[in-house]
Amino acid sequence: MARYQDAVCRLCRREGMKLYLKGERCFKEKCSFETRKGKIPGQHGAAKAKKPTGYALQLREKQKVKRIYGVLEKQFRLYFERAESKKGVTGHNLLSFLESRLDNVVFRLGFAPSRAAARQMVMHGHILVNGKRCDIPSYQTKSGQSIEISVKAQANDFVKSSLETAAGRGIPQWLTLDAGAFKGSVIAVPKREDVPLDINEQLIVELYSK
Ligand code: SF4
Repeated sequence: MARYQDAVCRLCRREGMKLYLKGERCFKEKCSFETRKGKIPGQHGAAKAKKPTGYALQLREKQKVKRIYGVLEKQFRLYFERAESKKGVTGHNLLSFLESRLDNVVFRLGFAPSRAAARQMVMHGHILVNGKRCDIPSYQTKSGQSIEISVKAQANDFVKSSLETAAGRGIPQWLTLDAGAFKGSVIAVPKREDVPLDINEQLIVELYSK
């Protein structure tokens, strides 16, 4: 399946909630979810507006999480299988794996305004893990690792403005940040309560367990 390249604001309206896919714009009044009052996109959007139940509800929840983290179906399924085989609550394990992705950590630390921008920074080789360049967005970070921005990218105004915006949002408890040094650390494995997303992961577990 190809990566989605259409207008991402449609995805928020399709899922009926803000997915924060566009960075700073998502926190401003011109967010299209706000201006279009969450109207479902497309000619038959109004017909799809009724509350989904059963399978449709489970499917929408999975799509929502995939879209938030920018993960395609095959990879998402692999995350689920890993989460299922790990000890603990499958839904919590799933979110923990997704949160630990390098592109998500870069976003959470405020080095990039969105996960898509973070993914691009990683792929362009601007992120160092424990001092070594890592260009794999799905790389699973571990407790004790340092995450920093390359010297070349530190001069970028985009990074500075992103850090300023993120300072208002706050850094999750499982990460630490030294903004002046453009360096952060992973200090713990993210738990469910560390994931501030309005999602019901149990619905995804039910969908894949059929
Ligand atoms: Fe979603 Fe952000 Fe677009 Fe608003 S601006 S609709 S939150 S992607």
